[in-house]
Amino acid sequence: MAQEKLLLIPGPSPVVPRILDVLARPTVSHVGPDMVHDLKEACENLKEIVFCESGEPFIISGAGTLSMEMALLNTVGPGDRVLVLSQGYFGDRMAQICAAFGLAHDVLESAWGRSVTPGELDARLKAKNYNVVVCTHVDTSTGACAPQVLEKTGALFIVDGVCATGGVAERMDDWGIDVVLTAAQKCLGAPPGLAILVLSELAMEKRRSLASVPAYYADLLRWLPIMREPSKYFSTPCVNEIRAFAEATRIVLDEGLEERFERHDLHAEAIRAGLAALGFTFFTDPRFMASTLSVVRYPEGVDDQAFRAGLSENGVVVAGGLASTAGRVFRMGHMGNLTSADVRFAVDAVERTLAGLGRKIAPGSGRTAVENILKS
Ligand code: PMP
Repeated sequence: MAQEKLLLIPGPSPVVPRILDVLARPTVSHVGPDMVHDLKEACENLKEIVFCESGEPFIISGAGTLSMEMALLNTVGPGDRVLVLSQGYFGDRMAQICAAFGLAHDVLESAWGRSVTPGELDARLKAKNYNVVVCTHVDTSTGACAPQVLEKTGALFIVDGVCATGGVAERMDDWGIDVVLTAAQKCLGAPPGLAILVLSELAMEKRRSLASVPAYYADLLRWLPIMREPSKYFSTPCVNEIRAFAEATRIVLDEGLEERFERHDLHAEAIRAGLAALGFTFFTDPRFMASTLSVVRYPEGVDDQAFRAGLSENGVVVAGGLASTAGRVFRMGHMGNLTSADVRFAVDAVERTLAGLGRKIAPGSGRTAVENILKS
């Protein structure tokens, strides 16, 4: 078997052995006691992770895109208008889903690398009535974070937390978020395979007020009885994945939420210090940089393909840029259950890769910058 590499793409993130061990357990009945126990616990833990006291959690086979679709289809009715705040590729996907289902919507776009400011949002909400506002918390294409718009807007507020939940705070109750939609494979550290949502009471009321939704599997009212009592059947869940996800949520809560958010901040700072010391710069406007990934510009003369192939040889896998940034940047995820040892290994591997490409760098300069942050 090929040597295992450190997976630092912006999701999926590396899955730690404690979670892999649960994934590898024998498959149990999807309506039996082990599954009932784990799904119930995962649901409770999930609410705690997004600071939601009285909402409804949903954990369903699928991926982030299904949770985006479910969030929209279950809250937007005839006559409603949606405002999509798009700061990149995944905001645009929200608009595409609206278009696919004929949901009336406008897009408030911000340039790649930044996000909408509260002032811009206020102005738009004053100019026109919206029933639902959708925002990408961290857009994985640009590394930009939109924390400043997580406030009461008067409309139902949907947050795409796929690249944030469990790594960056999402305080549903305090910030008036009505839906957090997310997936298992990024900051929560589980393998891919789940669409995950938490709906506030208001969002659930909205679903109940809709006579029907243009969905069957994606209709949350079909799933509600199962999430409350997993011994009931609607559609066979991915038993092993859900049990592994339950373990992932235990790891999150064992670490402590605030500690976990701080670790994400620290690792982002250390990696960026290391990369800057090696001559890289960053694509994202510093005011909006998320702690879950870095979108990194190459120094003059470093070729994207050669760099990423070399880095992979040195044991670290990163992703290329999306859309117009392709070839100009690489994207490095630093989310989930990453350790300081991983951070050190990653920056050392970048340094070895640059040396292999013939760049002149003072040996150890990346590592020194990393240590300065990790030890501060
Ligand atoms: N939203 C964001 C912010 C994402 O980063 C992604 C995946 N990279 C998605 C939605 C879609 O998730 P999935 O690939 O699991 O369908």
